[in-house]
Amino acid sequence: MSVKFQVKFCPTCGSDKIKRVVRDVTRTYKGQTYTVPKVGFYDCPICGEKVYDHEAMLKIKAYSPAYRKTEELVKA
Ligand SMILES: [Zn+2]
Repeated sequence: MSVKFQVKFCPTCGSDKIKRVVRDVTRTYKGQTYTVPKVGFYDCPICGEKVYDHEAMLKIKAYSPAYRKTEELVKA
């Protein structure tokens, strides 16, 4: 059982306008751009801060070229 991660105030600007969204996230790892589809995270419309919960981080990690490389090494 996991504790539900909830963000009520933006950690950067303190706004209560921060809200949970589900979007494709594009990230860059060592010059390589990759897209993670449908990631749930908190987005602050005031300052643009993004807060990723544990689940989102795991998903992003799973799509990361860094993670993929490690997996290949383990298999080999
Ligand atoms: Zn903010």
